[in-house]
Amino acid sequence: MISEARVSALRARMAAEQVPALAVTDPANVTYLTGFDGVFDEEPAHIALVTERATTLYTDNRYAEASSAASEGTGWEVRAAWPDLVSAACADLARDCIGRLALEDTASRRYFDSVESAFEGEVVAARGWVESLRAVKESAEVERIVHAQALTDAAFEHVLGTIRPGLTEREVALELEFHMRRHGSDGVAFPPIVASGPNSALPHARVTDRVIGHGELLKMDFGARVEGYCADMTRTVVVGKASERQREIYEAVRSANAAGIGAVRGGAKGREIDAAARSVLSDAGLGELFTHGLGHGVGLQVHELPNAGPRSEDVVSTGSVITIEPGVYVAGFGGVRIEDLVVVEEAGARVLTRSPKDLIEI
Ligand code: ZN
Ligand code: ZN
Repeated sequence: MISEARVSALRARMAAEQVPALAVTDPANVTYLTGFDGVFDEEPAHIALVTERATTLYTDNRYAEASSAASEGTGWEVRAAWPDLVSAACADLARDCIGRLALEDTASRRYFDSVESAFEGEVVAARGWVESLRAVKESAEVERIVHAQALTDAAFEHVLGTIRPGLTEREVALELEFHMRRHGSDGVAFPPIVASGPNSALPHARVTDRVIGHGELLKMDFGARVEGYCADMTRTVVVGKASERQREIYEAVRSANAAGIGAVRGGAKGREIDAAARSVLSDAGLGELFTHGLGHGVGLQVHELPNAGPRSEDVVSTGSVITIEPGVYVAGFGGVRIEDLVVVEEAGARVLTRSPKDLIEI
């Protein structure tokens, strides 16, 4: 992908903050800024250094060849600098007489200290500079997310044909993961959550060997990944015939999901979108049981900006991709969450998730 516009936007921020150099170390930010596809993983083993004139990637020997190939035709210079990237970058900054450096505040304290001791000048922390650019997607990024969501929807359709009482949560999770990867997902966006019966009352349940029983709620939260970009969706089904209480909760969550989607528009605040869904659950007497934020941005990472929780002042801009995922969790009974992925457009949400939302009884 093209990184020039991203670098220009970052330089404008650097100028406003009066910082002549920025060291980007977060792996997803390095991927984003360089635009190098398929080179980096989650290992923080690189420095993407942006100055007013140059863009240099300091990396180690293991990544040097792939980085050099990816950098062809771009403005990035690749320097293999193993074992000490920090010293190499700081020596270059000294040569260019740069006396002020911003380092991403996601770097560890130990890393920050090592930069401070190697750099002859002032080191300041940069918070969210690249992350805020990533919050608004280019069309090529949206295309990848659309593709990832299509693989996710296909896996859901497939798994519905396999679920029955007697299977374990782990077996269902593997079936979802296998289907997504078999059809082109690069790994998965995150380990699938498959939570049955009382386990479904835990918003972030871990997959267990619990055997799924007849008449239970089954909550599945999962996502594929395509060329670095994530999808994220949740569906909750009943394995058997739904009880009145299960159906009541399901329909309330579904209405809250619709209200959340209805409140999306370019320029809305995260907390306003959250409030639209939350008020539906409060009116149904279930507000206390919705114990997390309504949604989050999705992109190179499954959780990124903007945030759409009850206290979020984040502006949800046109071009952001966010989730809308209300849930109700009743301890000992079970939980329902319905999560869709949407692109924020000026006048509303474009929903990417295609899976049905009518209550499914298997
Ligand atoms: Zn999810
Ligand atoms: Zn989510």
